[in-house]
Amino acid sequence: ERNGRHGRLGRRRRTLPTLHTTQLIPVATGLPRERRWIGRSGAVAVPSPNLPLARRNNERQFEARQHHTTVTMRALVPATATARRGGVAAAARFFTGSRVVLDEYDLVVVGGGPGGYVGAIKASQLGLKTACVEMRGSLGGTCLNVGCIPSKALLHSSHLYEEALHDFEGHGIKVSGVELDLPAMMANKATAVTGLTGGIEYLFKKYGVDYVKGYGSLSSATTVDVALNEGGSQTLSTKNIMIATGSEVTPLPPVPVDNAGKKIVDSTGALELESVPEKMVVVGAGVIGLEMGSVWRRLGSEVTVVEFLDRITPGIDKEVAKKFQSILKKQGMKFKLKTKVTSSEVTDAGVTLTMEPSKGGDAETFDADVVLVATGRKPFTENLGLENLGIETDRLGRIEVDDHFRTKVPNVFAIGDVIDGPMLAHKAEEEGIACVENIAGFAGHVNYDVIPGVVYTMPELAVVGKTEDELKEAGVKYNKGSFPFSANSRARAVNTPEGFIKVLADAETDRILGVHIIGPNAGEMISEAVLGMEYGASSEDIARTCHAHPTLSEALKEACMATFDKPIHA
Ligand code: FAD
Repeated sequence: ERNGRHGRLGRRRRTLPTLHTTQLIPVATGLPRERRWIGRSGAVAVPSPNLPLARRNNERQFEARQHHTTVTMRALVPATATARRGGVAAAARFFTGSRVVLDEYDLVVVGGGPGGYVGAIKASQLGLKTACVEMRGSLGGTCLNVGCIPSKALLHSSHLYEEALHDFEGHGIKVSGVELDLPAMMANKATAVTGLTGGIEYLFKKYGVDYVKGYGSLSSATTVDVALNEGGSQTLSTKNIMIATGSEVTPLPPVPVDNAGKKIVDSTGALELESVPEKMVVVGAGVIGLEMGSVWRRLGSEVTVVEFLDRITPGIDKEVAKKFQSILKKQGMKFKLKTKVTSSEVTDAGVTLTMEPSKGGDAETFDADVVLVATGRKPFTENLGLENLGIETDRLGRIEVDDHFRTKVPNVFAIGDVIDGPMLAHKAEEEGIACVENIAGFAGHVNYDVIPGVVYTMPELAVVGKTEDELKEAGVKYNKGSFPFSANSRARAVNTPEGFIKVLADAETDRILGVHIIGPNAGEMISEAVLGMEYGASSEDIARTCHAHPTLSEALKEACMATFDKPIHA
């Protein structure tokens, strides 16, 4: 079938039954990917009257078929519904001074960000008695409070503003008196944030997760001490602990951040500026710097990005990054690459930065009203009590874990930004779920080969899998196909023709190894590539899949056609 009428790879999957992978017990993790027909771990579900999952006598019953053998498996699920219904108050057992010691939990999660809160909900859904400790006063972590969500709200609002100012006319819409109301824009952002963080509290109640507001530290492998936000303390006794304490901004010593002063700010400060700076310097040409720089440029700032390296967005495919930079430059963003900032002085008027070539050379000064430091983030483990358990961090401050997210203490786990891997909300979420599945006796799994990354500028940049440089370095022979949005009918119709899609596929098997998109809606489009790659698709698989017309995603189909054969429209 490999070389049959459907091409070299993949089509054989079509003959297998429709699946619901979330309903599987992954029975064979570790199988080579080539043998994972369907389901993320080699198991093939048998549609059965027991699905959706039947719960009987504290057991969950699953049926799965692996390599044509049908087996029935049962996983023990702790009976905790009654305990959960009781909540924190009913679960309290005894008191020691001001300290309340609570009934034993199956799992205490420290940190209520996307990794922690998602893991906590999943754990409760799996029947584990779960508490989540969060010190911030609201759930959702960096992502919902000061990261993904507020930045995307401002990116969208500032894009609308820029469109109204400059692009409506081209569509035959005349507007006059377009004005920026920054406080209203900020209020809109705040509404999005509070709506979502409140939504997680609702989900905690719905699924019976105890939300403990305070600062958690591990006093032993089975106890988490919480300094409560409202005063006093509480000790949570637990069988398992999942650390999901996330990350914080890495300081850049020559440019110390003072968000309250509003002159040298980090990403959190840049989300809260009260007026549009005339001149803004962004130190660091990574994702956060370019997104926040775009927001303020659209709102009227003259933005200069200073970057130590000779390129922007390190880690992104070079050809794509080059195109990205040229688009941002055309939009008015200025770049000073191969440059390092050596000192800063805050004055009444703003900030004076001193900078010099990265390799050394003559220094120059540069004045700005606001400087945004966006040179990276580091894991946050302050006062977490890791030393009480002998858990060490690596040279970058990350907690070391094994493939099952287990630290060197067997019942203490860690996930998300605080461990190795891309600092992304969806990566943290996947890990949170996989980790608690492991704790509950299932076989949780994260496929790190297909974690997408998106920059939410306009146009967007979205990537998954390997870059050309990575493939060359690994000695992998590959085919490359690309397709420009200028040849895509939908992009032309809505006047967003900039950018392209590049597909990289194994030269021998045609299996897709990387997809790189710069263009409109790239962040949504990348999901098709991610799904295809998760299931081992060849470029021919996607090329032969019918795509609605006219859509931007036809550009991915054409890029895939260009990879294994020829595109039609270019
Ligand atoms: P966090 O979200 O950092 O959550 C950790 C939580 O733990 C925090 O709320 C903290 O208060 C709490 N905590 C820490 N220590 C303790 C303790 N001892 N006791 C109690 N609570 C504690 N990612 C994307 O995928 N897409 C994006 O578009 C995106 N945009 C971003 C934009 C910005 C400006 C920033 C800064 C980040 C962005 N990120 C984005 C990254 C994303 O926010 C993080 O990768 C993600 O939040 C990590 O999730 P986490 O659960 O590991 O940690």
